[in-house]
Amino acid sequence: MAKANRQLFVGVDMGGTDIKATVTDADGNILFDAFPKVLSLASEGPKVTVGQLKIAAEKALELAGATWDEVISVGLDTPGPASLDGVLGRSPNLKHPEWPNFAIRAAFEAAIGKPVKYSNDGNAAAAWEYHRLYGDAKDKILGAVILGTGLGGALVQGGDVLTGVRGYGAEFGHVRLPTYELVTDGDVPVCGCGKKACAEAFISLTALDRQLRKIFERGEHPEHPLRQIPDEGRARAVRLLGLAQKGDALAQDLFDQQAKALGFLLVQLAHSFDPHIFLIGGGSPRARRPSARATCASSRKPSAGRPSRCSARRSKSHTPAIWTGRVAAARR
Ligand SMILES: [Zn+2]
Repeated sequence: MAKANRQLFVGVDMGGTDIKATVTDADGNILFDAFPKVLSLASEGPKVTVGQLKIAAEKALELAGATWDEVISVGLDTPGPASLDGVLGRSPNLKHPEWPNFAIRAAFEAAIGKPVKYSNDGNAAAAWEYHRLYGDAKDKILGAVILGTGLGGALVQGGDVLTGVRGYGAEFGHVRLPTYELVTDGDVPVCGCGKKACAEAFISLTALDRQLRKIFERGEHPEHPLRQIPDEGRARAVRLLGLAQKGDALAQDLFDQQAKALGFLLVQLAHSFDPHIFLIGGGSPRARRPSARATCASSRKPSAGRPSRCSARRSKSHTPAIWTGRVAAARR
């Protein structure tokens, strides 16, 4: 058949909740519009999830009218932290006890019999955003922070992702933030990594959830509608997104606090890397359009007379970016 000579690439984005997959040709064109979603079933452990990854890839191939024979290689991204070769560290997104130290790249490669290239999801998203904004330019620097259950980070220079020697470069979620600016009640938040005052402990759905619990335990906002929602998982924190958009004072205050903390993080990164732009991606920023502006405004305050070059904008396509960014990486 006419398709026999195609060279195809599959991109697979594994999140804590679902898996998204896509297929491109050798020129990077995506071969179909509707991206299949498959549950990751991460709470059932990595072996189950690897099976789901294969299902997601095969659904994508089906939509593309393609077969494994046409696939040159596969890109896989997952929540970090992880080594360059896809050996996972402890992630707040992955709860099963077999996840830490699981070699997901190698396991997926064994399951499908095709070369698998690995990236953490923050790096994949940032690589794609760089390509979208700057094409093949080699003279730009892009920093990215990706908010979700945790806080991912990435730095792309000239189209190349700064991975670090072992894969743990640009883990901006674990940069310490100034508690003397951000903590007013003496209760310094503890990060999922075990350390105090990491950026992720201030800026993430997990951080929102913690703040909300503290406020309710203190008896504040006794009539707030979120008191009716069970304190399980991130259900209440996720609801804050919509409430903030409707003008809820508590939700807006919490996002303002996150924006302030994000500002302190960005100004540290601006002093370290002086990028052309920061991109803010992920789930939480959609809560409030002003959050990016507030972030930039607050980031300028501590720069003490030196103009910060923080030019933050929201990622316009964070999720497809991850898929297609993964594909782009797979093609290299
Ligand atoms: Zn940490």
